[in-house]
Amino acid sequence: MISRRDFLITLARLAATVGGAGMILVDPDWQRFLLGGDSGLAFGGTYLDELVSSAPKARYWTPLTIKGDGYSPEETIVRCLLCANGCAIVNGQRGRCRTRMNVNGELRSLVYGRPISIHIDPIEKKPLYHYLPGAAAYSLATAGCPLRCKFCQNWEISQASPEDHQVSFTPPAKIVDGAHANKAPVIAFTYNEPTVFTEYLTDISRDAKKQGIRSVLISCGFMNEAPLAEMCRVLDAIKIDLKGYSEDFYRTACGAELRPVLRSIKQIAKSRVHLEIVNLVVPTLNDSDKMLQELINWILGEVGPDVPVHFTRFHPDYQLLNLPPTPVATLERAYNMAISKGMHYPYVGNVPGHPGNHTYCPNCKKIVIERQGFFITAMNIKDGYCKFCRRKIAGVWT
Ligand code: SF4
Repeated sequence: MISRRDFLITLARLAATVGGAGMILVDPDWQRFLLGGDSGLAFGGTYLDELVSSAPKARYWTPLTIKGDGYSPEETIVRCLLCANGCAIVNGQRGRCRTRMNVNGELRSLVYGRPISIHIDPIEKKPLYHYLPGAAAYSLATAGCPLRCKFCQNWEISQASPEDHQVSFTPPAKIVDGAHANKAPVIAFTYNEPTVFTEYLTDISRDAKKQGIRSVLISCGFMNEAPLAEMCRVLDAIKIDLKGYSEDFYRTACGAELRPVLRSIKQIAKSRVHLEIVNLVVPTLNDSDKMLQELINWILGEVGPDVPVHFTRFHPDYQLLNLPPTPVATLERAYNMAISKGMHYPYVGNVPGHPGNHTYCPNCKKIVIERQGFFITAMNIKDGYCKFCRRKIAGVWT
């Protein structure tokens, strides 16, 4: 039989997992108990206490009830303005991403300085194919994500809460030092949805810039306009997952909306930041000719033929273990549709050794970057131009 204590903890975790319409509601009488308070039990106990007490004030939020209107700080509800979920959060609770908490009327970031995963990857793994090919990317993630994609390949961290992985505080300068010590010219914010740690990533990027290290973001594009504008001021490249050209698909498969993602892509395309797009093609869910064609048409119409687009293979994961991996023929269909519509740099992703993994010159059609998996085996771009016909190849090469 489940104990009363286990029941409450399970209830709280369910609330955090389900999330509802961007607001997690737990009976205030249990709040102190669930947050550790007197009991020191729930959500990892003292580690959560430490997270909350050291969490810095977040950016991008507003109080919904104003002090002086008869509300005490403890009664103040705040609205988070970081992403399109727009969570309204009562005192002691968090938004849908589980990383931002209302602490006595002030929104705090529980993931600032708390990376739970750090690796060095080739930049091709992000994937960014037209940005410093072959560069090592010092890559990091925290817990948390505003979305609930059923096919998430990193769900262990994206769907985790900050207290699920106990790590010590890592200031931005230490991340920059880590990249420097490992001779990585790029820092990548990736694996989970980095928007949830926007305060941390922008501080890191500013520090990195001073040391000549560039910063890239791997994102679902669900953030609001103002935080994205701040990110674009300090980042050098952004890869956006455009998961499917359908509101219904976004709602049912991701618990999100398409419209904010399209807005973000257009905003990045107008900025100085290098942009690439990934479309993870999931069998039966977003692989119809109609959806692929609409996605291709939108990209060509709104951001043009020079933005690289990766049609990437799905592997069964998380809540979609029942589906097979994407047939290579499906990815080739998407690739050929893109080419026939005039897209210059489509790719077949997650299929090592496939010819659709190379970069071809749009003019002479010769291979200008040859890849084997994540590695460059031939480079035929010189000073940004095709070595064979001297056509300019879109991207950042040095
Ligand atoms: S960033 Fe998190 S708390 Fe803020 S609106 Fe999005 S899901 Fe809600």
